[in-house]
Amino acid sequence: MPEKQDKEATALREPPYLVVTVPCYNEEAVLGETSEVLAAKLEELIKAGQVTAESSVLFIDDGSQDATWSIIERLHEANPIRFHGAKLAHNKGHQNALLAGLTLAYQNGEDVVVSMDADLQDDPNAIDEMVRDYREGVEIAYGVRDNRDADTAFKRGTAHMFYKALSAMDTDIIPDHADFRLMSRKALAALLNFREENLFLRGIVPSIGMEHAEVHYKRGERHAGESKYPLHKMVSFAVEGITSFSTKPLTMITGLGIVSVIIGLIMLIYTVASVGMGHAVAGWGSMMVSLWLIGGFILLALGVIGEYIAKIYQEVKHRPRFIIETTI
Ligand code: UDP
Ligand code: MG
Repeated sequence: MPEKQDKEATALREPPYLVVTVPCYNEEAVLGETSEVLAAKLEELIKAGQVTAESSVLFIDDGSQDATWSIIERLHEANPIRFHGAKLAHNKGHQNALLAGLTLAYQNGEDVVVSMDADLQDDPNAIDEMVRDYREGVEIAYGVRDNRDADTAFKRGTAHMFYKALSAMDTDIIPDHADFRLMSRKALAALLNFREENLFLRGIVPSIGMEHAEVHYKRGERHAGESKYPLHKMVSFAVEGITSFSTKPLTMITGLGIVSVIIGLIMLIYTVASVGMGHAVAGWGSMMVSLWLIGGFILLALGVIGEYIAKIYQEVKHRPRFIIETTI
């Protein structure tokens, strides 16, 4: 992926129409503060001439059961330019709520969209640098956490394992980047071409390519409310991440089959040799050899089926075959 070009090389882009999209699931405890902080951030950026005056916040209520939606409605009534909202009919999870926000922002014709969590763990001040990077020509600016002190040791450890596992499975993942990022209209258009059912944004967005930058920030504490990612959601998120990017688990079966067949063949040689030397144990050799060989052949057969399933899996995702960055 090309890194961002020399800063001085090109004139700045026009101040963009910015939308900050925020997925919210049962966030009544923190929304008041979040909306104030974001509105202040937007006013500041507008005053500084970095974004256009109609820039706004788009809350996506991910089927909350608490007062989240009525808070969003009130915010919109009080300030219809600055606050917008959309309510999903069901709780569809963080990734889908995000995608809803990105899709709506795109349809509304914004120039750039920043996605961030509702709990202010992502530092809104990092948006300044993201917007600057965009004006200097990047299409995607990734927020990267410099410290995770605010997270529990357990969360840090599991997150570390998760990023390690994903990169071992050939995914273009950016370590310590969650879903706090800026995307230009062009990058969004490319993203919306990925029509797959289970969208794992952290893996898909880097695979778009295009000019990008990283913006480092300190991740803070959740300002109010509780984490909406209990252990079981974290596990299914990790499984989702791996299975939507990699077919390695399937193809690993072939490797196991090969190992088992090799062990079977060694046993065969050993058995024949011990018969030749006259100290064979009756029945043991034939048992062990057939166990390992038959086991190995079955695994190999499963591996072959796995390879085909992997192919089918790649095909049904209908990913775009290429992404055009510019034409002249
Ligand atoms: N979220 C969502 N739907 C869900 C779970 C979470 O929209 O089913 C949102 C949540 O409101 C928050 C963001 O996703 O804005 C991240 O969740 P959280 O901060 O609880 O996760 P953590 O930071 O603990 O990993
Ligand atoms: Mg959080």
